[in-house]
Formats: sequence, C-alpha cells, structure tokens
Amino acid sequence: MGKKLLLKNDHISGIQSYEVYRQNGGYASVEKALKTMTPEAVVEEVKKSGLRGRGGAGFPCGMKWSFLAKPEGVARYLVCNADESEPGTFKDRYLMERIPHLLIEGMITASYALGCSNSYIYIRGEYFYVSRILENAIAEAYANGWLGKNIQGTNYSLDLHVQVGAGAYICGEETALLESLEGKRGNPRIKPPFPAIAGLYGCPTVVNNVETIAAVVPIVNEGGDEYAKIGIGKSTGTKLISASGHINKPGVYEIEMGLPVEEFIYSEEYCGGIKGGRKLKAVVAGGSSVPILPANLILKTAAGEPRLMSYESLADGGFATGTMLGSGGFIVMDESTSIVKNLWNFSRFYHHESCGQCSPCREGTGWMEKVLHKILDGHGTIEDIDLLWDIQSKIEGKTICPLGDAAAWPVASAIRHFRSEFEEYVKQPKSIQDVKHYYRLQEAKF
Ligand code: SF4
Repeated sequence: MGKKLLLKNDHISGIQSYEVYRQNGGYASVEKALKTMTPEAVVEEVKKSGLRGRGGAGFPCGMKWSFLAKPEGVARYLVCNADESEPGTFKDRYLMERIPHLLIEGMITASYALGCSNSYIYIRGEYFYVSRILENAIAEAYANGWLGKNIQGTNYSLDLHVQVGAGAYICGEETALLESLEGKRGNPRIKPPFPAIAGLYGCPTVVNNVETIAAVVPIVNEGGDEYAKIGIGKSTGTKLISASGHINKPGVYEIEMGLPVEEFIYSEEYCGGIKGGRKLKAVVAGGSSVPILPANLILKTAAGEPRLMSYESLADGGFATGTMLGSGGFIVMDESTSIVKNLWNFSRFYHHESCGQCSPCREGTGWMEKVLHKILDGHGTIEDIDLLWDIQSKIEGKTICPLGDAAAWPVASAIRHFRSEFEEYVKQPKSIQDVKHYYRLQEAKF
C-alpha cells in the first residue's frame, strides 16, 4: 500500500465538515507556519520538498514562489487554478468535493509564505456545485478564526475569495485565467511579463493548481526533507491520478511517484486490470493534451526498462517513444478502441476551445478536425494522412499559449504510432457501418 498524504483521511465520515477535519489534525500547518515559521522559512521547506506543479507543466513550485516580485507597497496575489478542464482529468474536483478544508488550509499557508492578504480560487463553471462546497467551507474557516483579521491571534490577516468561471477550457491557462478573473474575455496574454512580475491587476501573482496548493499542507507539517524522501529522482512526493477508460476500477488514486505503470493498470489496489479481460491497446497518460502511447511503450521504455509513473520516466525517449505525466489524467484504451475516432473527438474539442488569437491554432485545429472527419467518413486518401501530419507540425511551438501544442501532440503521436490504422480507414470501401457512424457523428455535433 503506497503512502497517502492528500487522501489519507478521505475515508473518514464527515471529513468535509470543519469539526471532523479539525479533529483529524486539520489546520496544523497554518498553526505551525504562522506561529513558528517566517514566510521565507515556509518557502524554503517547499523548495526542499522538490514539489513540482501538479497542473501539467511540472515546474518546481518553490522556484516559482521565489520568482515573485516584492516591490514595496504593491499587493501580491495567490490564485488557485481550479479550472480543471483537461479531458480525462477530475482529481482536483474529487479533492475539493471530499476534503475542501485541505485546499483552504493550503491556501492560507501558501498565502502567508507569499505575503498575500487577498487570495482567489478560480473554479470552472461546470463545477458550480463544488464552488458551493468551497464557499461553505470558507465560511466555516472564517467562523473559526482561520480567515479574516489576525488569524488565530497572530498579525497575519487573509481574505479568501471564490470566483466561478464561465466554462472555457482556455481559462485553465494561467494568464487567460487572470484575464477572466479581472472580468475580461479569457484570452491568454503574450509573455513576458510573467505573472510573477505582472499578474492579477498588474501585480505580482503566483498561480498554482489545486493539488499543488494542497500538497503544501503535508510539506509544512512533516518538513520538506521528509516529503522529498517519497518518490523517485526529481519526481518527489505523491500524485493524484484520475484513471478512466477501459479499466475495472476507474477513479482517483493517490500514488507514490515512481510506481510502475504496469502495477498501476493491473493491480487490484489501483485500476484492477482491463475490463472484460481484453488486451491493452494504448494509454493517454496525462490528459488529452499529451502524446498517446501504444501498450508496449507505456509499459516499458524503448530501452526495455519498466515505465514508471514519474515526470522523467514517462518522458523517457522524448516524443518519439515517450509522453508526459501532464495533469495525471490517465485514459486507458483496450483493443476495441478506434484511435482515429478517439483522435477526431480530441481534435473537435481543441477546435471548439481555441480562443482564436493565433492563426496556426484557430485555423489548424479546424482543419485537423475536418480532415479526420473526412477520413472517418470514408472519403480520406493517403495524402490526407500526410496533410494531417503537416498541419500539426505547423501548429506546434508557433502559438501564444500551449493549447496549440496540446492540439498538435495527440495528432502527431497517433500518426507516429498508429499510422496503419489511418491507412485501413482510407483503404476500406465505405461500409454500412461507416454510413451509420457518419450519421452518429452528425447527431453528436448538433
Ligand atoms: Fe488562443 Fe490557441 Fe493561440 Fe492559445 S494557441 S492563444 S488558445 S489561438
């Protein structure tokens, strides 16, 4: 059984409430930080822990915090990114629903470390019911002296606000999120300047994901060195994984970094194997934006080493034979899955969600969806497969924000590893099944 840090009290009845959360050691990190540590000491512990951002990019959290500009007389902000919209990812929702006080505790401790007196949780519109859970928990925290003026009799004061988004995937990109939080259209900003210098309302700002902020609680309670002992290499601590697809036990799991992928998929403790005893075909390991890998490459690296659930091991081999840990949205596909249909679904999503600021993304995502639709519709040609490859290569690295890359990588990896499947679609005569499928696609569109 792997160590649990974030979900260790998940099984306790009533842990959603302040009373039960507090009885089980809740808010100890705030007490420790505010009464026995300087803000700089908290930042130091986070640096020692090796915690990396859990939203997808994996940037070292302590380093991000230390970049925060501190000009005299200027407000600083901590913004929690709870706009969890990546297809296949639902672990932040689970954490906020089940243990809302863990996020609030992390927000207070992190805000103290960064010197913020107003902090925000930006949550996606589709999680409206979760925002109500958070608001109730925040009210309980105010009532018990953990928020507001002079928290627990100290000199530190903090107000915490919840802002609900309006349902745009792009608002998960940190600068688009800040635009939306300021009441504007959620368009990503051109960087630099980065939010650490000019973020919310032009002030220095740190944007961290829900899971990242929650992880600050065990780091401060147990110490950065203890946290760093868990995991492997530069992938320290534990990670929440949203497991979905053709597995016997979909759900949210907390794993120790370094767990073999094979154990995660097949052991009873986690996914419990492939549904119906069918064969594994492919896995999208970190949400729809990361490259898809076929079964042989997700279980073992190209060098034959067991593939591990860590930033480094999943990326081993680069995009030729590896992928990314991303947001931890682990989508398992069995042998019955059509990679081309699955890819069309992803492409349709990115086309719909492109904000339209840059041409390669705005136009390219639309063309990729169209060409995939043509192939699925039975009218594709071999040249269309090459055209798809060409389009994705003209998006990657040529856009303002990472949505362009996120749309290109699944296409590139699907063609790289499953080209023969595209060719089968192109070569097959149009069957009655294809015709039925075409009409199902049309219905799904409207
Ligand atoms: Fe908008 Fe796409 Fe450009 Fe990002 S890459 S700024 S989503 S058009």
